[in-house]
Amino acid sequence: MAYQVLARKYRPQRFSDVAGQDHVTRTLVNALTQKRIAHGYIFSGHRGIGKTTIARILAMALDCRTEVGTPGRPTVEPCLQCVSCREISSGGNASGDNLSSHSFDFIEIDAASNRGIDDVRSICSQADVRPARDKYKIFLLDEAHQITDAAFNAILKTLEEPPDWAIFMMATTEPESIPQTIRSRCQHFSFHAVKFEDILAQLKAIAEKENVTAEDAALALLAEAGDGSMRDALSIMDQAIASAPFENGRAVLQTGQIRELMGSVPNAVFERLMESVSAQQSARLMEDLDKLLTSGNSPAALARQLVRYLRNCLMAKLGGENTQLLEIAQDERARATRTAQLFTEEELTRNLQIALRTFDELNYRQEQRFHLELGLLKLIQAQRLLPMEEILSGLSSQPAAKRPNPAQTPSSPPRTPSGSAPASTPRPTAPPAAPSLSPFAASNQRAAVTPQPNPGRNLSGAENTERKPENPENQVGQGFSPAISAATSGGALAPEVSSSPASTSRTIASETTAVGLLELP
Ligand SMILES: [Zn+2]
Repeated sequence: MAYQVLARKYRPQRFSDVAGQDHVTRTLVNALTQKRIAHGYIFSGHRGIGKTTIARILAMALDCRTEVGTPGRPTVEPCLQCVSCREISSGGNASGDNLSSHSFDFIEIDAASNRGIDDVRSICSQADVRPARDKYKIFLLDEAHQITDAAFNAILKTLEEPPDWAIFMMATTEPESIPQTIRSRCQHFSFHAVKFEDILAQLKAIAEKENVTAEDAALALLAEAGDGSMRDALSIMDQAIASAPFENGRAVLQTGQIRELMGSVPNAVFERLMESVSAQQSARLMEDLDKLLTSGNSPAALARQLVRYLRNCLMAKLGGENTQLLEIAQDERARATRTAQLFTEEELTRNLQIALRTFDELNYRQEQRFHLELGLLKLIQAQRLLPMEEILSGLSSQPAAKRPNPAQTPSSPPRTPSGSAPASTPRPTAPPAAPSLSPFAASNQRAAVTPQPNPGRNLSGAENTERKPENPENQVGQGFSPAISAATSGGALAPEVSSSPASTSRTIASETTAVGLLELP
């Protein structure tokens, strides 16, 4: 027999074999048991998660020639032995025992290439004719969202009052593209993405049956790459087995070989990168990135992996190491948790945002390498930003006294290159050329020290308008408090200003400015 890819060879044949869609199979088995058969079904969901498979199993169960309750078929599950079962399980054509038969009562149509009104009219006229041999005449329309509106209208009448024997099943990845009039006449089953553990268990079973030796980590990697799709995971596994080395007649799947195949790097690399970010070691970060790029990794692939890694770190921070939000192997969970401990939740969120934006930008930019470098440096610089509530609490007592990470206090050297110069605070509309990251630190210091003369407020007239971008006092004062703007335009800052709520507003404005600048491309 010709070689069959794993996804086809191990396609489930019974409801109980389908992984991860219990909510669908349970309902269908109950409906079959109670003989509550609908005339229209919609199966929707992501690619490769079992829509067509379940549609075929349902068709087999409906048309199976073995009676339910007999030894060959104790439950409503199909017997898989009769000619109907064999025909349907092969998609309408059964071969074997030197016989090749074609089902007249199970018609599987690729709706992507038969989407017009004439195609649908032909389906409707077939549906009007009684089944040739089986109990039901079943039409399975794959990729049903491709059917045109006019064609859907042509089938509407048949769906509303179908002949007793006609059953329509539609499999689609875009249920919202199917007209409401059609959807309301069908039972709609929304499929879930297959869970990591379910894919992993299936891969293990298949590796056993295929006589393949596989490391657990290697299978976990394949399951992760499947990303909720069983078929995707099996396709990569097929490829991995084909390229695997042989030992004692068995193919051996190893983590390194699969990573090479997928063009991905070990997550230990990202753990190290994030350690550099946490320790604010820009040089080490850039050197590590250089090594990765020099050894042939593409910037876009690295950014993509970084996004996934940071997402997992954030989920580990939120839900702990054993959270269901993580769909990765156990040692990867431990790794993500280790990295998560280096950062606060807020920092991890910001890191993920920066990484996502970097990944987005890479897709349509020329100098991908520079954008990735810039993105990673932004991660380090974002570390130097103070959380909002810290600024607020710091203003009421001593500034920055409650900083969780002592390495990141506002007084640390990287944070205050321009801290002593309030006049250099950028305004929100300033170009991103000089993203000074410490204006709020300056504001903090200003707030802590009682009446401190500010060189900016002394500027007036023509000079003032010219240098306005560098004077946050005027803008914020006008925006938030008339008293402050009066004080600043008067040329003398009232002593109580620095400890008044207005200075809080000013600090918040500075913080927003810094974040805004940082997020600009
Ligand atoms: Zn059967």
